[in-house]
Amino acid sequence: MSRQMTSILLLVGLITAANLLLVASVRGASAESLQLERDVELDTLLTQRARYALERVALVGGQLRPRHVDASLNIATGVITVRLDRSFLPEDYGPSFEDQRSNINNGLIYEAEKFAPVSTVEYLYDGKDIYHYFPEVKAADDAARLEGERRRQATGRSGMAVVAAGHGYFMSYRTNTWVTSRDEHNGVSEGLLTPLYAGELRALVEARSGMAVTRARVQEAGTTHPESGFEWWTMAARYAIAQQYPMETGIWNTYAGSTLWDREEREDINSRPKLANHVGANVLIHLHSNGEDSGVVRGSRVIVQPGRAVDAALGRSVLCSMKELIQSRAGYEAFVVAPAPHVDNKGENREAHMPSIIVETAFHTNPDDAAALLDPEFRIASMKGVEKGYRLFREGKDCKPLKGEAIEDVSMSQGASREIEVPFEGYPQYPLRIVTRNVGCPPGWVCRGSEITVDAPQPTPLKIALSCNNSGSAPLFWETSLVDDDGVKSVPVRYRQQCIRSS
Ligand SMILES: [Zn+2]
Repeated sequence: MSRQMTSILLLVGLITAANLLLVASVRGASAESLQLERDVELDTLLTQRARYALERVALVGGQLRPRHVDASLNIATGVITVRLDRSFLPEDYGPSFEDQRSNINNGLIYEAEKFAPVSTVEYLYDGKDIYHYFPEVKAADDAARLEGERRRQATGRSGMAVVAAGHGYFMSYRTNTWVTSRDEHNGVSEGLLTPLYAGELRALVEARSGMAVTRARVQEAGTTHPESGFEWWTMAARYAIAQQYPMETGIWNTYAGSTLWDREEREDINSRPKLANHVGANVLIHLHSNGEDSGVVRGSRVIVQPGRAVDAALGRSVLCSMKELIQSRAGYEAFVVAPAPHVDNKGENREAHMPSIIVETAFHTNPDDAAALLDPEFRIASMKGVEKGYRLFREGKDCKPLKGEAIEDVSMSQGASREIEVPFEGYPQYPLRIVTRNVGCPPGWVCRGSEITVDAPQPTPLKIALSCNNSGSAPLFWETSLVDDDGVKSVPVRYRQQCIRSS
């Protein structure tokens, strides 16, 4: 039996009955054959997309372009597997290799998610995963995960959050110049934009989550890093941490003695989780923008480390709230926010002893996403979403976007006034406005809506008063919606008020 036949049979076995029914009812043909066709087509597409990316992506040290490339999606598990030959192995596992992998992943996930959700992309080099060639990366990942679990069960943490803006200038020993690890795309230089996002998130976490925040990089403008001559806020975290904790070389000088050209960039990546570990942070949030070579991929994503269920729960909560907050802004109603985090092994998360997520707010490689990244409205809304997602996660609450529930029809006699219940779901930011608008008024009557402000959090249901001030019997129709202080608005709920003439 050919390898392809084997994989097809395995896939058919894994597909749920619901999927088969759906496919059959949509296309009206044999579900099994269509599913096979679609799978083969998708895998062909994924392989083309992988080849496209691998032909263009910038190589890192030791790599050659692979001769053999194929990619496939396991629909049941959401895992894309990319099979390469070992010529594409880097001589060394570092941040440039991880960045390159993200770039390729982003295109593959985009292509596959037109069809089915993707949880992760795994790579096999001559049939073996990356850990086979770099066992020390697996060891670091395992050790941090175990340490994180041990600490979770042990004593409390500092009650502090670490917010880490991605990238910044570092010393390249290849050129002996200060460089950023990200080129500018569509007016966005990732490492110079992320400090703005970190400043926003820091203020929100302090005000709304009630936590102290340590930043990995310097936020304020106006001071100069003497060695580079660049302003401090543009520098990578490694340098800011070295200045603040000169004796703690275990945080920021983890490649001491190395001759690698990017040793300080590697130290920078490591310094972020090591700082969070050092201060005993409760949570570590990395803020990045995303990149992908074709430029078509868009939207917000969150990256979590493999095998960490708690981090994945945090990621889901953050994405859910980001979606609620971003889509509440005019012009961003259809902005794409991933429904679930994607799993990838990243140096920023790997060594963290607490829940750690990378928020990829939007793609700087897409012109529309880049414009969003530069828009203060988008920045505020997205960071409000990140804070809210963290806060609900911390409080053990499932994310529930603001939603008005059914309001009962009511009847009352002329001259009467009655309270009606406005039930809702969600965690709005107060003060909250209850906006009631008339959508059906009998001829000759006066039907006035209302706007009531609720200052402090109230349990559901809220209450508003309705009255019958006109003379006669007739139905009135109303719509009530909730608008929170962040501009999140519930879909209006329609109901009927019957006024009855008192004789
Ligand atoms: Zn980044």
